Amino acid sequence: MLPNFTADATSLATLDHQHLWHPFTQQQEWVKKDPLIIVSGKGAFLDDIHGKKYFDGNSSIWTNIHGHAHPHIVAAIAEQASRLDHTSFLGTTHPKAIILAERLVKLFPGSPLSRVFFSDNGSTAIEVALKMTLQYWQLTGHPERQRFVSFTSSYHGDTAGAASLSGKNIFSERFAKIHFPVEQVTDLSMLERLPHPQTIAAIVIEPLIQGVAGMRLWPKGMLRDLRSFCDRLGILLILDEVMTGFGRTGKMFACQHEGVIPDFIALAKGLTGGALPLAATMTREKIYEAFLGTVEEQKTFYYGHSYTANPIACAAALASLEIFEEESVLEKLPKKIECFSHSLKKLESLPHVAPIRQCGLIAGIELMQEPHASISYRWHDQVGAEICYKARHHGLLTRPILDTIVFMPPLCATEEEISNAVEGLFLTLQTL
Ligand SMILES: *Cc1c(COP(=O)(O)O)cnc(C)c1O
Repeated sequence: MLPNFTADATSLATLDHQHLWHPFTQQQEWVKKDPLIIVSGKGAFLDDIHGKKYFDGNSSIWTNIHGHAHPHIVAAIAEQASRLDHTSFLGTTHPKAIILAERLVKLFPGSPLSRVFFSDNGSTAIEVALKMTLQYWQLTGHPERQRFVSFTSSYHGDTAGAASLSGKNIFSERFAKIHFPVEQVTDLSMLERLPHPQTIAAIVIEPLIQGVAGMRLWPKGMLRDLRSFCDRLGILLILDEVMTGFGRTGKMFACQHEGVIPDFIALAKGLTGGALPLAATMTREKIYEAFLGTVEEQKTFYYGHSYTANPIACAAALASLEIFEEESVLEKLPKKIECFSHSLKKLESLPHVAPIRQCGLIAGIELMQEPHASISYRWHDQVGAEICYKARHHGLLTRPILDTIVFMPPLCATEEEISNAVEGLFLTLQTL
């Protein structure tokens, strides 16, 4: 039974409008509507303050893996919170972080990424990889390797360093002056034409699929070719698996579809199963060893956050990895993914739906005025946002990226739940 919050809904809404400032939100529009106040969640569903139930169609901004309030994760958090809530990771250590690091390392056959550096979110996981890369090249006698290359329309986070790597768009333009210079390429052939590749420090990519770009897929084999390119020229490869990690694409990590091992991998969103903020940057022993030396040699990696390796978050992450095994989560994915593709097919019969982009349990459903002529809607007409708003009436909660509806169910969703939720979107799109 839900507690009765209804009486508070109005005062909570008023207070939200008075004091809060939401991310990626035009507050002037936000305050015109009653906010959707979420008070509980169970499995693939969320409940609002009035008791209405919604399918969590974007896994709570791409984080949730095993469903909300999974009993194993809840118990792990409660147990850890009562034992040790937090302790500094600068100068001390604790069992949950130690065991979690070992488990993460073992997720890659042969354990090539043997070192784990914890932080709090996807952006910081990327910042860590950037700074480690620069320092690695300085420490190994290659200070000339300073250039970073990323891909147009990519997204690697919102802190200034991570945002520097991200593609230029309406969100980032304003801050371009404070970003460090990054060269951006559209594809491999453009990358191969860049002059002086021996001064490139690292290449950063979202493997298989670019998320914020609107769920755009790379051609098959592209990642493997990128790895060979980096190997040939001694460039480090940083994989941003903040969105794709932890089963989202059908395998534990996207890079495993192409047998690629990066030099750095950034993990965050799904690391704790979606319960708490935690991130990890994993790298090779060779990189780690370059930082070893006496204190006065100044090789130390001076970077960290107060909540590095928070024990409660580490306990949640460990519980999440245990669920992967106990519930054979990966083994159940192929059938779910097939069912998902099948359900999505029906949407393509609608007049304003462009060919759907899907990778595992991730889909981008782009709405267009004229899909056959590739004519988009005007972005500020907010067609995607309006559809997502209406979809709530059919019990589906998700968010668009411009006019691309993101559909990314938690991995725990059953085939029936997935097809029902897609049906809710179908009914909504019929009104377009
Ligand atoms: C979400 C995301 C990030 C940033 O993660 P935050 O935890 O929001 O800082 C970075 N890269 C990718 C691919 C993402 O999807």
